[in-house]
Amino acid sequence: MERKAWCEGCGTELQVSDPTRPGYVSPSAWERENVVCRRCFRIRHYNEVAKVDHQPDMYLSMLQEIGNREALVVQVVDLFDFAGSWIPGIHRHIGGNPILILGNKLDLFPKSVKVQRLKEWVYRTAKELGVQPADVVLTSAAKGYHFHEVAETIEQLRQGRDVYVVGTANVGKSTLINRLLREFGSGEEVITTSPYPGTTLDTIQIPLDDGKQIVDMPGIIRNDRMSEWVDPAELNEITPKREMKPKVYQLQEGQTLYFGGLARIDYIEGVRQPFVCYMAHSLYIHRTKLENADEIWKKHRGKLLSPPKNDADFPPMKRHRFHLNKKEKQDLVISGLGWVATGKEISKIDLWVPEGIHVEVRPSIL
Ligand code: GDP
Repeated sequence: MERKAWCEGCGTELQVSDPTRPGYVSPSAWERENVVCRRCFRIRHYNEVAKVDHQPDMYLSMLQEIGNREALVVQVVDLFDFAGSWIPGIHRHIGGNPILILGNKLDLFPKSVKVQRLKEWVYRTAKELGVQPADVVLTSAAKGYHFHEVAETIEQLRQGRDVYVVGTANVGKSTLINRLLREFGSGEEVITTSPYPGTTLDTIQIPLDDGKQIVDMPGIIRNDRMSEWVDPAELNEITPKREMKPKVYQLQEGQTLYFGGLARIDYIEGVRQPFVCYMAHSLYIHRTKLENADEIWKKHRGKLLSPPKNDADFPPMKRHRFHLNKKEKQDLVISGLGWVATGKEISKIDLWVPEGIHVEVRPSIL
């Protein structure tokens, strides 16, 4: 194997010697043109994928490289999982370069959503996390919402510089770049996108007219979101694919809601109020009495209460107690799974999730 070649899907250098390493192609496929690695081939044709880890340390040093250059940084975040899709400490690694934040997956939100309000929330949250965005654009890379605004804002802000597209795994970077290429470039869809975290293995450089380039960076995996723990088949069950239709439960004190076998809310104290669940439609939600909750959990987890079908690899459940005393609607957020908007009542709530999964309370965004 003398020539060097790179996978058309994920950009990894191809090799024929080690099937367990990235970039593997069979010797017969190697002879063909426009080869994709076996991993991308499987994703495209069978929808299956092997997990690839991106060490946060390695990723941060890649980000540091950006800090040594003049560039526009485009950080893609998943609006459905904002906290879990943020790159922690990004502002410390990219020097003085401006950051454009693209809030992706807007198509999952109800049509009635107030985009300006959502945008302001993204601004505010970014600032709280240490970033003063040069701009914020909300989009759906999959559906093409506001896509001219995306392209125009990138062009305006880059001022002749390279563009680095960064984000955690699965926020939609590849989908975004494919759409940019399709709508504004000459090429066809070339980057592999997949519903599973961590598809883009290596950087992909896309030349721009002025000799600069768009660089698609691999994703950093955050182990504190639920989507990283369930297996690929079950990930489909917890990932919303289209506009979320919230499910409303009127709960009284002493009631419990299960979210499959992944999370549980115990309403400890407070008057009757609505709990509005923004999650994948296919996720099974079950209500019961708190006094029976432990027993039902033990008996039915992995069966009626699933995913996960198999909890052997799951961390033990951990309780987070929240005292809601602001008299305003608040969201109980479970990273990678969605959120539950409460009513305005003062209340005490226990939220149970596998240990290590990020949870938080925020003022309601919808
Ligand atoms: P990457 O890991 O950041 O490159 O993400 P991908 O582009 O591979 O996308 C990850 C998953 O999110 C795939 O299942 C995509 O179909 C999905 N996705 C990407 N953009 C959107 C979007 O705008 N809306 C929705 N609902 N899903 C999206």
